[in-house]
Amino acid sequence: MNRKRNFNAGPAALPLPALERAREELLDFAKSGMSVMEHSHRGKEYEAVHDEAIALLRELLGVPESYDVLLVQGGASQLFAQVPMNLVEKGQTAEYVVSGAWGEKALSEGKAAAAMLGGAARVACTTAVGEGKDKKYLRVPLPSEVKASPDAAYLHVTSNETIHGVQYEVDPSRPFPATGKVPLVADMSSDFLWRKFDVSRFGLVYAGAQKNIGPSGVVVLLVSKELVAKGRKDIPKIFQLRTPAENKSLYNTPPTFGIYMVRNVLAWLKGTGGLAAMEAQNRKKAARLYGVVDRNASFYRCPVEKESRSVMNVVFRLPSEQYEERFIAESKKRDMVGLKGHRSVGGIRASTYNAVQPEWVEELAAFMEEFAQRG
Ligand SMILES: *Cc1c(COP(=O)(O)O)cnc(C)c1O
Repeated sequence: MNRKRNFNAGPAALPLPALERAREELLDFAKSGMSVMEHSHRGKEYEAVHDEAIALLRELLGVPESYDVLLVQGGASQLFAQVPMNLVEKGQTAEYVVSGAWGEKALSEGKAAAAMLGGAARVACTTAVGEGKDKKYLRVPLPSEVKASPDAAYLHVTSNETIHGVQYEVDPSRPFPATGKVPLVADMSSDFLWRKFDVSRFGLVYAGAQKNIGPSGVVVLLVSKELVAKGRKDIPKIFQLRTPAENKSLYNTPPTFGIYMVRNVLAWLKGTGGLAAMEAQNRKKAARLYGVVDRNASFYRCPVEKESRSVMNVVFRLPSEQYEERFIAESKKRDMVGLKGHRSVGGIRASTYNAVQPEWVEELAAFMEEFAQRG
């Protein structure tokens, strides 16, 4: 079998040991004579997996006791609506920092959900330059550009813009905004668990699993118990965050196989040295690719400002679209897949999530150098 060098943005590469473990356990899970996906979600075999996934999240991130770790469905896109449904009171406004396409979507859904419940959502800060087809996002904001109103329901940020390759806190000069008493809410779908972070700085964090920690179908939430308790009670139970919080994320049938795979990925992550080792490796991988781009500046160009360049999604352009098409076609012949930029922005995007091996990045960097020299 020839495994591809998978640079997809999401669903993305999974660690081979996590997949191999699934293969070994597929037909006979924990000597039960059944696959884990055939087990009741209330049985002891599945429950052990469920509990282990949550315990590993707590351990890897050092999640404080005052926070719930929840597993829900619907993708990060559902959370775009579910977060305001829970947290925006009647007459209150939620505020959004928009630094890319996912922030735009979060805002748009936030507006619809908040309006339905007698609240509102608005932009606190955007880093967009240009209009319409020419609109670009090249950076996260400086702390001084973001002011949350003291009575805002929350301030929402997208920690890593997967399409535009723009990320917070890669450089110390671009921290997450300080919000005082206003809860900071972050969509961390494409950079969750690439490194350790201080959970207590956030009121709520959510992340779809399929970028960096597992297959699609699972969303991880870290949310302060205080926010869960304050959440609205006049919305359907299935959307209230207290429902998974009060039922160990087992109110209804969870995506058991997806959570099982998340468990496998987290166990692998812990076994490889945890988040400190992963951060060092991820920074090296991204630096290798940006290094090739910068050293070949007459050929490659990264549109993103240096201080905001994503460690997870490295985006760059070639001298023309014809060059970019050839680059992608040739990379495929070398078993590298997923390098085409998002259709809305074009160019090249190499996603370098945790499971993307340093050797693949080295092969890609060598190919980039050779391609530029051929010109
Ligand atoms: C992929 C992505 C989403 C959407 O995730 P779904 O699971 O498809 O709903 C949201 N936000 C960010 C930052 C993403 O990368």
